[in-house]
Amino acid sequence: MHHDVIVLGAGLAGLSAARDLAAAGTDVLVLEARDRVGGRVEQTRTSDGRTVQLGGEVVGRGHTAYLRLAGELGLKPVPSYVEEPGRITRATPEGRSAGEPPHWFGPGDAALHERLGAEFAALAATVDPDDPWSHPDAAVLDRLSVADWLRSQEATPGVVRLWDIGQLALAGGSYERISLLAALRKSAAVPGSGTGDYDYDDWEGLRLEAGSATLAEVMGRELGPRIRLGSPVAALTIRPGRSAVRLVTGEVLTAGAVISALPAGPLRSVAVSGVSEARLASLYRQRHATAAKFAAVYERPFWRDSGLNGLSECEGVLGSTWPQSEGVLSALIPPERYGVLLGTPPHRRTPELLGEMAALFGDEALRPTDCHLRLWGTDPWTQGYVTQWPPGEVMAVGPLHGTHEPPFYVCGSDQWVAGYMEGAVRTGRAAAEEALSRG
Ligand SMILES: Cc1cc2nc3c(=O)[nH]c(=O)nc-3n(C[C@H](O)[C@H](O)[C@H](O)COP(=O)(O)OP(=O)(O)OC[C@H]3O[C@@H](n4cnc5c(N)ncnc54)[C@H](O)[C@@H]3O)c2cc1C
Repeated sequence: MHHDVIVLGAGLAGLSAARDLAAAGTDVLVLEARDRVGGRVEQTRTSDGRTVQLGGEVVGRGHTAYLRLAGELGLKPVPSYVEEPGRITRATPEGRSAGEPPHWFGPGDAALHERLGAEFAALAATVDPDDPWSHPDAAVLDRLSVADWLRSQEATPGVVRLWDIGQLALAGGSYERISLLAALRKSAAVPGSGTGDYDYDDWEGLRLEAGSATLAEVMGRELGPRIRLGSPVAALTIRPGRSAVRLVTGEVLTAGAVISALPAGPLRSVAVSGVSEARLASLYRQRHATAAKFAAVYERPFWRDSGLNGLSECEGVLGSTWPQSEGVLSALIPPERYGVLLGTPPHRRTPELLGEMAALFGDEALRPTDCHLRLWGTDPWTQGYVTQWPPGEVMAVGPLHGTHEPPFYVCGSDQWVAGYMEGAVRTGRAAAEEALSRG
């Protein structure tokens, strides 16, 4: 069967690309390995009608491509957990504190933290997120980890720890192993009003009222028979005019152009020919942070009783918690703890995670009505969570990042600065536009 364009993967990137191609009258087919659309966005519903997000969940006011698409689909953004009243909880092996400052801060740490946030923001303003390689000090900034940069600016161990516990909470990889250039690029991609390395309103202040996975479900319904579920791709042969896509079943389909919307890990398992060695080396170099998500559903938001907002940053197996909706707590297990989780006997995982939540918010945390643990890091069709950029990786992946080699196009959150649903939608629509412009 021949099509104008074949899109690989029905995550937000592949769906956004296919939707624009279909709207322009293109004969497009989406091939998806799983038996559902959405990829790293997935939701389930509780018996009382609440949606529970098991993957991508919140966006921010800086996520313009995502918000525009949601608007086109009639999906309403509402404030996320950032509006929840109460204090944040921080938990480390030696203690726990609610609100600011964290319990390990010493005299002068708060002012130092603020100064370094301003310095980071000023440095980020010198980086072009679309072309970080053009920065005069690109290689130097890329070699340095964020933690090493903090220490070079005379950060105390207490301040480095606050920055790093924030990274544990985001589960994108410890700042001891993240490139400063990558962190600056990410910050520059969503320039906001805040200082510091990550402004929560710009990145996480909103969620879709109907549930973030609804965005994928709606696009999936619109595209209907243009999507083939349960169709893992095994090989690609890219040729001008007629490229071939082979499924694991051996079936071969052809197309004028191919758009890969696959995550970095699964793409490495697809045999690709007809694409330059330099491009493949760049694509294969990209890597993910491995993480898991845990969601616990309660009858009520009991953490409010103690003046807490359900938000936490922790150094346990859990790296963070936050309220995803009324009575539902989300949590992330970061890459540094993912091995510990896998090493825990499966029947002990949920009780132990609930135990950590109880240490944060009290014993009512032990009595959820429902729990979901999603091991994204070892899911064969994701093999990770969001893009991770260790020192040296921005230069190693290089300026081919996120670019195309027609008739082979790439999109997906990994092709943006640092993953996220914004990256999926932004690059998906850009890939469709580029393919359309070339006829
Ligand atoms: C736990 C978790 C929490 C997150 N939280 C947030 C958040 O709050 N906010 C945010 O903005 N982002 C968040 N993200 C990130 C965000 O969800 C992703 O970056 C985004 O959804 C990725 O979209 P994508 O289309 O690029 O890739 P994916 O969604 O991974 O889609 C790729 C698709 O390709 C398919 N596929 C893989 N291999 C093959 C193959 N061989 N053949 C055919 N199909 C294949 C997969 O099944 C999948 O459907 C989170 C991610 C996770 C996992």
